[in-house]
Amino acid sequence: MQKFNGSMVADNVMGLITQLSKYKTELEGKIYHEIGRFEKSTGICSECGQHHVLTLKDRNFTCLACRTYQGRDLSAAKSIAKTGELDLIAAGIVARVNPISQQKSAIKTKVFELSELAVGSEKKVAA
Ligand SMILES: [Zn+2]
Repeated sequence: MQKFNGSMVADNVMGLITQLSKYKTELEGKIYHEIGRFEKSTGICSECGQHHVLTLKDRNFTCLACRTYQGRDLSAAKSIAKTGELDLIAAGIVARVNPISQQKSAIKTKVFELSELAVGSEKKVAA
């Protein structure tokens, strides 16, 4: 017999959200990547990377190292994005690039391109 509880419903909704995100991302020719389920994201300063222990009640915090005041959820989102970027760079899937239009500008947007050494290409070279 099937049992339904809050956690199962939440898992199903998250599964649906990730499925839709994956579909839409790949439809646009972009990369869909999930970071590890147990990767720490909450309480990491988005400015300097300092780790903090937060309780569920702590919606905002001031970084102990750089003193910036941050929202718990936004800093966690930035941390997840950074972890994902590092995962894809480490796997050789993307490389950080500096567009010509931004080379002399003080404001730089992060831009990634698919790495020329695509996954599996090293096998083709060896064969
Ligand atoms: Zn900080």
